[in-house]
Amino acid sequence: MQTKDVIIKMRTQKGMTQEELAKKVFVTRQAVSRWESGETTPNTETLKLLSNLFDVSINTLLGSPYKLICQCCGMPLDDTSISREPDGSFNEEYCKWCYTDGKFIYTNLGQLVDFLTEHTSNEQWPADKARAFYEKELPGLNYWKKKESASGRRN
Ligand SMILES: [Zn+2]
Repeated sequence: MQTKDVIIKMRTQKGMTQEELAKKVFVTRQAVSRWESGETTPNTETLKLLSNLFDVSINTLLGSPYKLICQCCGMPLDDTSISREPDGSFNEEYCKWCYTDGKFIYTNLGQLVDFLTEHTSNEQWPADKARAFYEKELPGLNYWKKKESASGRRN
């Protein structure tokens, strides 16, 4: 789905006219009409307003161009698992289990590796294989990279 289709779908689901939607996000009816014909796409600020209004992520509004994964635990993200800021807006970098109420749940990579290994391993995906996978993949995610560079100099 393209942005224009997503906007039309969301607007009609809410039972809103172009005029009503325009008022809510502080643009003209003509602007909404241009989005829906695919002539233009909303700017970043307006995308944020639309995201809050429709309660879908910006990635969804854009027609899901990105395969979002949580930058802490590596889980694929969709609108039901994306974390939110305390004000209710989406934080599309993290899942709701890693980032809750404005706080990060995991501060220690080893702890998260233990947790994921314990909860995802099974007969097809043995614990040692799972652990090796997480130990290799997780340090490459933004959250852990940032932590690494913040603490790196002290050691
Ligand atoms: Zn996560």
